[in-house]
Amino acid sequence: MNALNHPDDGFSSVKAVKFGGSSLADPQHFRMVQKIVTEDPERRYVIPSAPGKRFREDEKVTDLLYRCYEVSADSQKLGEVFSRVRERYEQIIEGLGLTLDLSGEYETILSAISHHAGRDYAASRGEYLNGLILSRLIGYDFIDAADVICFAENGSFDAERTNGILSEALRRHTHAVIPGFYGSMPNGTVKTFSRGGSDITGSIVARAVNAVVYENWTDVNGFLMADPRIIENPRRIDVITYRELRELSYMGATVLHEDAIFPVRFAGIPINIRNTNDPDSPGTMIVASTDVTDRQMTITGIAGKRGFSVINIEKDMMNSELGFGRRVLEVIEKLGISFEHLPSGIDTMSVVLNSHDIEPYRQKLIDGICRAVEPDTVSIEDDLALIAVVGRGMVNAKGTAARILKACADADINIRMIDQGSSEFNVIIGVAADDFVSAQRAIYREFVRE
Ligand code: ASP
Repeated sequence: MNALNHPDDGFSSVKAVKFGGSSLADPQHFRMVQKIVTEDPERRYVIPSAPGKRFREDEKVTDLLYRCYEVSADSQKLGEVFSRVRERYEQIIEGLGLTLDLSGEYETILSAISHHAGRDYAASRGEYLNGLILSRLIGYDFIDAADVICFAENGSFDAERTNGILSEALRRHTHAVIPGFYGSMPNGTVKTFSRGGSDITGSIVARAVNAVVYENWTDVNGFLMADPRIIENPRRIDVITYRELRELSYMGATVLHEDAIFPVRFAGIPINIRNTNDPDSPGTMIVASTDVTDRQMTITGIAGKRGFSVINIEKDMMNSELGFGRRVLEVIEKLGISFEHLPSGIDTMSVVLNSHDIEPYRQKLIDGICRAVEPDTVSIEDDLALIAVVGRGMVNAKGTAARILKACADADINIRMIDQGSSEFNVIIGVAADDFVSAQRAIYREFVRE
């Protein structure tokens, strides 16, 4: 049993709560965050992002800080851009009526950036300064992420070392703010995760305290069943499993950083996506497994991506030629391209690839395949869009694929490819890019009846 599961570990019934940049962009949002945190005594560990956009044309503080780094050789330009960063924080401090003087921090940061402190250091200061303000506002201790989030020598995140140091540190602080997005290398220099990485910090903290839930507060009501740019007002997903989420995110439905899933999934901690602007909405619960099927619907969500190509290979008696598939895939592998799907027939083999990846290698692919397997014909077809229909309710439900195909047929859409893995909770269809929108609408209508 994990030592932290023990009731005496000091962490019983704790929630780790992460707030995104739009939830901390101005004093009004800080007040909403304060209310959310303080109304639930279990919300003891808080992970802030840097201030995000306040309006469409606004700039995120993180982007301003990257710009500071880029102009760091020119002290005047650096001063100009950094003054915009400072203004953002001063506006927040003043709006909240806090007595907090960050002038020493600004000076240190400005001087470090002009003395080549590095790109990651510059970017990380967005979360660092926001963490100082938030900890003062809600009266929680401040823990510098550089002291508790560790990267290894090769730059990868050091999960086990971090978990040891972090859970030890958090045991000493019953309530703490830990800035998201960054940590430090073994030599002490600051390193960040990739963009949106505060989600990862939140997940790491949740694991370190064995939280009952990792709440990820953002500006949407959770995961939607479909892309709202395609389906008007799609339904919110109440509960989704990690596996379903992974399938939908792979197809482009993102609310959460992909790497944020692993620390909590490993520890069996659910993630709750919540909306700071609508705190009464229960949001979406992401769980390891569940018997609950959303509103008794067969599917959980639909997501899609454009920009795929198919290599179609035909050869009589292909099925009896030992190693045919391997030789084709070897050609693709040697060019450093990974394939997406492999729908095949008796004498035909199709390989679905990302069009962007194959662009520089089109002729090489054709030549390589001709040499490797001497096909009767080989061609590349472009403008394929893939649509994933995902749902744990599909496992053992009869007729789901038929319903998808019929919905498309009734909408006069030709399906160019269909692929269902043996896990049975995901059907992927390929349609012409022009049918991308109408296919998703047809499928949504078929499964989601008001
Ligand atoms: N502030 C960082 C970014 O804009 C990290 C985050 O918000 O999660 O990417």
